[in-house]
Amino acid sequence: MLAYLEHFVRENDAESRQDDDVASLARALELQASIDQFGPTGIATKDFGGIKSAKPLALVRPSSTVDVARVVKAAAASPSLTVAARGNGHSVNGQAMAEQGLVLDMRALEEPFKILWIEGAAYVDVSGGALWEDVLKRCVSEVGLAPRSWTDYLGLTVGGTLSYAGVSGQTFRYGPQTSNVTELEVVTGKGETLCCSQTQNSELFFGALGGLGQFGIITRARVVLQQAPDMVRWIRVVYSEFEEYAGDAESLVEELEECFDYVEGFVLVNSDDRANGWPTVPLGPEQVFDPIHIPSSAGPVLYCLELALHYRNADHLSRVDTDVDRLLQRLRFIRGLNFQMDVTYMEFLLRVKRVEEHAKASGTWDSPHPWLNLFLSKSNILDFDREVFKKILKHGVDGPILVYPLLRNKWDDRHSVVVPDSEIFYIVALLRFSPAPPKGPPVEVLLEQNNEIIQFCTNRGLDFKLYFPHYQSREDWRKHFGKQWARFVERKANFDPMAILAPGQAIFPRTS
Ligand code: FAD
Repeated sequence: MLAYLEHFVRENDAESRQDDDVASLARALELQASIDQFGPTGIATKDFGGIKSAKPLALVRPSSTVDVARVVKAAAASPSLTVAARGNGHSVNGQAMAEQGLVLDMRALEEPFKILWIEGAAYVDVSGGALWEDVLKRCVSEVGLAPRSWTDYLGLTVGGTLSYAGVSGQTFRYGPQTSNVTELEVVTGKGETLCCSQTQNSELFFGALGGLGQFGIITRARVVLQQAPDMVRWIRVVYSEFEEYAGDAESLVEELEECFDYVEGFVLVNSDDRANGWPTVPLGPEQVFDPIHIPSSAGPVLYCLELALHYRNADHLSRVDTDVDRLLQRLRFIRGLNFQMDVTYMEFLLRVKRVEEHAKASGTWDSPHPWLNLFLSKSNILDFDREVFKKILKHGVDGPILVYPLLRNKWDDRHSVVVPDSEIFYIVALLRFSPAPPKGPPVEVLLEQNNEIIQFCTNRGLDFKLYFPHYQSREDWRKHFGKQWARFVERKANFDPMAILAPGQAIFPRTS
């Protein structure tokens, strides 16, 4: 049964077609009585980006896969309804919205949570609507195991990140989250519920991973587990020269055998600015960033390599120190700008939760977030540093500017996500947290800056792809997917021929 259905739109001027849609939906779901209720929240009208808004016809809270399938079938039976699975709504461009359509609140989906051992390897079956932070907590506390590949922030749903890729400092070793699931249960745009894997309904499995929600709604995922460490040595070291920073980061991710367990990094402004500069580096309140160490040759920005090494409670700290020193000694960071801290594994993985709390307290969590995320070939990263980091972004973005290398061979070409054609490519993420106007800049100014960066990449012919892509025209989508476009279109025709699903991605118009 559907647990709950919120009706948002009942303006008198609603088109009769929409009335027909609601009526046919209500009949199909046998929920005539509750369909006319206004809901207590407007979550489906907005997202984390705070730039776009939409008025859906209804917010549906499914309690089971059967509910999800019934909603999709009901939409398919109507002339124009669309269905958007909403994970935790952390998209920034309305991707989880459905104007005049149905929004499925995937968080309501009841949890399968089942640990499985198959041929000696551990997996967990979780709901597509589960938050990664809950998956982490249950896996660690119940069986001492944990997924291998993460995102930085864990208040995101399993289905939401698997629809893109899911990237963080473990991706160089294990690939994105999409490379760490072995089976999915998916409700297609035809309303069929299918179990899929590399060997069963494989085209749907590969399509749904990184598929922008276009081919089906992920209701369950089987995630690979490994033993969870107890502790993490969390390290930040600072560079003034990008060539040295990038060279060291690349050599670390290429040496998989003897390396850190996590490799990331970010750009900071070479100043004492609290949001953009030196104060963003120290890991604890007792640590001091002393700018005396910065060489006089340094430019407007500096680079911070962020690393982590896992260990167990039984390991002696002196042994951890020795291992860390050995790994750090050949790196070319500025001696004196080396920050380290020991935290539990959970504290480390939940580190961005603290950022969320601060941002909520200061109001920047709820201000607009015109974020820009892209993947850029290694061969273009120096050019990008020279023109974008050192010039366009020399005053920062009031939040992290991530830049770290990933290995192409950890990504599966059969998945729907597209990345640059290069053995090493970088993720660049401008995670803007400016206060809303009048304290901060108008969002249009920030969007313009994003456009300037994209324009720079395009004009120079850089090999890049947007991560969390969003385009207005079919032509732009075709360019984004490049030689994978035909496959993407074919998958759409096979699994969601009427283009019912994920309308907020604005790739395919609904057909009847
Ligand atoms: P939503 O925004 O709700 O949905 C995203 C898209 O997926 C929509 O099109 C939606 O229809 C579709 N969808 C949702 N659930 C399903 C499902 N079950 N089946 C099929 N389609 C579905 N990303 C990273 O890779 N690495 C990071 O480190 C990272 N950090 C972040 C930190 C913050 C603070 C924020 C806000 C975002 C971050 N992201 C990161 C981006 C994040 O991965 C995406 O925004 C993702 O879409 C969020 O998941 P969600 O559950 O909120 O999905």
